[in-house]
Amino acid sequence: MKVYIMCDQEGTAGMVHFENRDHNDAWNAWYRQRIMKLQTAEVKAAVQGLMDAGATDILINDAHGSGYNILFEELEGPVQVIHGNQRHAEFWTSRLDDTFDAGCYLGGHPMDGTKKGILPHTHWDVNGIELGEVGMAMTLFGYFGVPTVFVSGDVAVEREVKALCPGTEVAAVKEALAPDIAMEHIPANARNMIYEGAKRGLERVSNIEPVRIAPPYQLRLGANIERTGDDYYEVVYSALTEYYHYNREFKREGHEWVLADE
Ligand SMILES: [Zn+2]
Repeated sequence: MKVYIMCDQEGTAGMVHFENRDHNDAWNAWYRQRIMKLQTAEVKAAVQGLMDAGATDILINDAHGSGYNILFEELEGPVQVIHGNQRHAEFWTSRLDDTFDAGCYLGGHPMDGTKKGILPHTHWDVNGIELGEVGMAMTLFGYFGVPTVFVSGDVAVEREVKALCPGTEVAAVKEALAPDIAMEHIPANARNMIYEGAKRGLERVSNIEPVRIAPPYQLRLGANIERTGDDYYEVVYSALTEYYHYNREFKREGHEWVLADE
């Protein structure tokens, strides 16, 4: 079985502050490395659970922030990882298609505006249905007929997921007391919850419905971006190109790759 895993970081047990990539003081560098290690251990636990449930081909999209978070040398199994500059990807869910049997989302955070949720951000509205990043990924999985079998994150993420698909397995590894303070399961226990949830989710794949929203689409992202159309993927792609440079040509500028035509 072929599984696509979207990975964010804010829903990792241990993360209660936004990642700050602009500062390199000792505490911040230590915090970031620590979160990367914790995130990697959670990804490993999910991979193991999926493999024990029959996954033979796993694609991991390291989609948080810089797009280079997971310590991929620590992973094992039939796994490939998409990492690098997310702004230059093919799409937010690069290489997702209808050949996958199941989708997972790890380290998810709740949507912008959530009262008791850790580090809530991003708000989509599709035909009046409110979605965060987790929900958006679930609907993109659904576009390709792929059921979301497992999600990890906080208790608020669990509510979002269950509203879209009651059958999806969720490991709620923490509960927010405010946006930047949580009651969390310690890593060893969080990893256990993730292992068990991912395994159970894939074992139950045939009983979990893909999340689909019926066309036509009226989509709003944040306060300023609006798109309409009949093809869900195209509508989302078009909205995200406000932020990302998908499928473009690039030229080198010192250590960076910049748009070739600018
Ligand atoms: Zn993130």
